[in-house]
Amino acid sequence: MAKSDPVVVVGAGPVGLCLALALAQQDIAVVLIESLSDDNFLDQVPRAGSNHPTTLEFFDRIGLYTKMEPRGLIAPKFQYWDRKDNALIAEFDHALLKNDTRFTYVLQCERIKIIEEALKMAKAHPLIEVRMATEFMGFEQTADVVLARVKNAGGETEIIHGSHLVSCEGARSIARKDLGLEFEGFTYPERTINIEVAYDFRAHGYTERNYISDPVEYSNLFHWKGPPDRWRIHFPTAIDDDENELKRPEALQQRLKKFLGIDRDFEICGCNLYTVHQRVAEKFRQGRVALAGDSAHVNSPIGGMGLNSGVHDAFSLADKLARILHGKADGTELDRYERQRRHVAVKHTQAQTIRNKRLLAERDPAVRKRNHDELRRQAEDPILARQFLLRTALFESLREAEQTA
Ligand SMILES: Cc1cc2nc3c(=O)[nH]c(=O)nc-3n(C[C@H](O)[C@H](O)[C@H](O)COP(=O)(O)OP(=O)(O)OC[C@H]3O[C@@H](n4cnc5c(N)ncnc54)[C@H](O)[C@@H]3O)c2cc1C
Repeated sequence: MAKSDPVVVVGAGPVGLCLALALAQQDIAVVLIESLSDDNFLDQVPRAGSNHPTTLEFFDRIGLYTKMEPRGLIAPKFQYWDRKDNALIAEFDHALLKNDTRFTYVLQCERIKIIEEALKMAKAHPLIEVRMATEFMGFEQTADVVLARVKNAGGETEIIHGSHLVSCEGARSIARKDLGLEFEGFTYPERTINIEVAYDFRAHGYTERNYISDPVEYSNLFHWKGPPDRWRIHFPTAIDDDENELKRPEALQQRLKKFLGIDRDFEICGCNLYTVHQRVAEKFRQGRVALAGDSAHVNSPIGGMGLNSGVHDAFSLADKLARILHGKADGTELDRYERQRRHVAVKHTQAQTIRNKRLLAERDPAVRKRNHDELRRQAEDPILARQFLLRTALFESLREAEQTA
């Protein structure tokens, strides 16, 4: 049985839910605070959804994977395309990881489906108290306890006692701001437009996940399970583009027609415009408070690393908190969490996502050619291709984190 105050987890996004379930699995009581209510929890805009093999292993550990698989698409391969020449540059197949994992594919399963399934599991777990429609307002901490101040579902201010508090509140983390921690990095000046369309791009040679380089308008194209099956395509926009004009139905149709070079109308299911940030908090813990997921680091979605690396934070932190709360380690274990996961955020997630964007958007013809030749060389050699996949599927970052004392 859990003996101490519960761990207060703020935010029932994928990171907060995984953390809560992983802690409960290790006999630690959790209070999970979420500002959205049961009525609007599933009304969130479409976001992440490419789940790498390493993350599937973690989902499997808490019994979440089996709930996700029927709701997602198995995507063993991904491709790089040159839009300018309308040519496939390279294809990578996760089958090359058969000796590294039982998950030799990415599961295309959107964030909203993950949190819907995980929330059901959290609500059913006797060690997790889920507090929906409860807004985290701030905290105080002493040497022994954290006092979380929330506005509860009835609109009253309430104090919740915790042994620790973990901010999984997303990029706008109140805890990070209250701790006075810098969110170091930069924001890209241009925004990205996301169009969801019910149209089968496989007729044009694409696979479930595609990265498309172009000196004028690079993009990413992903397939999602329906009904109806949808594809999400991202395009960069210019800094001064007007939002209403970008989202005008005819403008969206025009973009898709131009992209595919065909003249027909598409069934557009939705679109949204977002700003991309590359930032990492200067510290991931202070006293009994820790940051995880987007609260600690944000990055461009090219490569699908945000949700994945956030879920990796959750499992790393769950194991360390369990060791502390079961008396097997002292509070310095949280410093190890910070050393390991901040290293990954800076050296892997930030570096890789910045490189990914540069690769797709490169304008210099000579550099583009060199980049594409290098991708081809790596895809054609099974040893190099496996190394490439170990990096993109985040095995390399996990192994490096484990080696960080
Ligand atoms: C368009 C787009 C595409 C993306 N694609 C990918 C991808 O393919 N792969 C990938 O790995 N990543 C992707 N990402 C990034 C990914 O969505 C995030 O990294 C991930 O959702 C972060 O999870 P999180 O749990 O840390 O935070 P969030 O998902 O932001 O969840 C935070 C939760 O905290 C709650 N909350 C916030 N403030 C409070 C408060 N004060 N009190 C109580 N609750 C609060 C929120 O309601 C929410 O439920 C994408 C992002 C975008 C924008």
